[in-house]
Amino acid sequence: MRSTTTRRAGRYFVACLLMCWGSASWAGAPIVIGTGDASGVYLTVGQAICRLYQQSTGSDCEPLSTGGSLYNANGVRTRDFDFGIVQSDIQYAALQGTAEFYDSGPSPELRALFSLHAEAFTVVATSPGIRRFDDLMGKRVNVGNPGSGHRATLDALLKVKGETESVFTLASELKPEDMTRVMCSGKLDAFFYVVGHPSRAIDNATRRCGAHLVEVSGPDVARLIAETPYYSVTVIPGGTYANTPDDTTTFGVRATLMTRADVSEESVYQLVKSVFEHLDGFRRSHPSLARLTPRGMIDNGLTAPLHPGARRYYEEAGLLPPDTH
Ligand code: GLU
Repeated sequence: MRSTTTRRAGRYFVACLLMCWGSASWAGAPIVIGTGDASGVYLTVGQAICRLYQQSTGSDCEPLSTGGSLYNANGVRTRDFDFGIVQSDIQYAALQGTAEFYDSGPSPELRALFSLHAEAFTVVATSPGIRRFDDLMGKRVNVGNPGSGHRATLDALLKVKGETESVFTLASELKPEDMTRVMCSGKLDAFFYVVGHPSRAIDNATRRCGAHLVEVSGPDVARLIAETPYYSVTVIPGGTYANTPDDTTTFGVRATLMTRADVSEESVYQLVKSVFEHLDGFRRSHPSLARLTPRGMIDNGLTAPLHPGARRYYEEAGLLPPDTH
């Protein structure tokens, strides 16, 4: 015969199971998303995602300002935070343990939620003589802060050309929020930025110090695109910025949202649901998000496996067929 204490413990267990499960399934959990520098698009996008998550679940969400993609992939990998906005080339390198992640090795626990806006490898120069990427050799450039995705993408391009950052007479490591001011003061000839357009930093540089966009194309770029699953030809339309009336051809990536396999299925499900069910508002939060589609967000730029919480939402919403494995 069961004692009263055992019966009470049993009732408590059942009550707790209902309450705890109930609250976890609707409230989600507090989350942190690694984003980027104050002058980039990642921070705005992270703020928009957090707003939607907070409105839908009532739980806290912090869009953390960081050094960029490399910092975010590392932060997620090493469990400093659970979510990060990461360029698709960095996502691939972190998962596979290549390029900047060669020493740390593969991180097979990384998972994708969805992709975001297109980002172009953008070169902004002041001197009218700099028209193409190869004109930058021997010039003073900002290669980007350590932790930034643009620094890693620049290094990938230099590598395919058989070059290193030593081809520049100066390779400064300023953050995006400082590079325009320093270039406009005459101390730099150009900077690199992998960013969604229109970008405030580039708008400032072109309007305030007469800078223009530089073409990044040719056989080396074509080889880089052909050899990788994450780069594609990208065109920044003429007239987007001052002093650049014609289209600028370059290459680009997708921004993506990443997490790890051990992060709760419920939080990921709630996060994905809060964005996809309010996609119109989300698209309006930055012009570079304006053309996002649910299909494109699942199909483009993701090289890591989908997190089960994301997959659950996509199956429920009819965006993916049920996983029969
Ligand atoms: N793509 C840049 C990076 O990964 C960040 C761009 C942004 O903040 O919008 O570092």
